[in-house]
Amino acid sequence: MKNIKEFVKRHPYLVCLDSDGCAIDGMTIKHLQCFGPCAVEEWGLGDYREEFLQYWNEINLYRMTRGINRFRGLAFLLQYAKEKGYIDNAVECYQEWADSLPELSEAALEREIARKDDEMLKKALSWSRAVNRRIAAIPWEKKTAFKGVQETLEKAHARADVAVISAANAAAVEEEWRRNGLVEHADVCMTQEYGSKADCIKKLLQYGYEPEQVIMLGDAPGDHVAANKNGVLFFPILAGREIKSWEEFYDSVFDMFVQGEYDGEMQKKYLKEFEGNLA
Ligand SMILES: [Mg+2]
Repeated sequence: MKNIKEFVKRHPYLVCLDSDGCAIDGMTIKHLQCFGPCAVEEWGLGDYREEFLQYWNEINLYRMTRGINRFRGLAFLLQYAKEKGYIDNAVECYQEWADSLPELSEAALEREIARKDDEMLKKALSWSRAVNRRIAAIPWEKKTAFKGVQETLEKAHARADVAVISAANAAAVEEEWRRNGLVEHADVCMTQEYGSKADCIKKLLQYGYEPEQVIMLGDAPGDHVAANKNGVLFFPILAGREIKSWEEFYDSVFDMFVQGEYDGEMQKKYLKEFEGNLA
């Protein structure tokens, strides 16, 4: 898998795909075992553990908010905990910060902490770092590709260029792809270092693809937004029904795509399923 500087366009068609929760089954385990439990520990919410974890998982995995930035997810969670009376800390400073920036990161949070000495901001950073440590400790064999991904990419790669578009960091994505034997079926990997997913697709379009000959595969509404912003096609991988989605792409959608038959009209049926699945 090359970075964009070494990328060479070989085909008129381009298949872009998200990694986590789309090609690699790593998203659910991260939320179930890392994000939620670390929040319970950081805010001492053991008494409400089940309710709290359920709320976190709903927001991050099973609703239209699926795939949101971790710090935005935390803003929802803290608001919920505050309303329920589970925490009595002041959350205003954190909420204000979480609402103020288009991109939220640990680096941005560190800068905010340097400006304001606020307990919740510090706890959010401590939580985020604990999450990172716990994610790093998940064994590789638990982050496998969904069944059907390898065959599908192999098939797609014979007719189209393949680009991985991910909000994660490059090293982590490449390692997951290498361990799953997927690297040889992708041409280029574009991650957060290049900006948003929409920015990544935009950059690839500059190589001379026609928007109707580019398709983005993703599991989250943010992937659809990135495709829409660039006027390219979208095919959803449905949360909880990923294997069926990959089967469908392999059996029919990819062929329709390269024959010019998967258009905006055809896409509507899949979008309806996608939105219904996360409602
Ligand atoms: Mg994803």
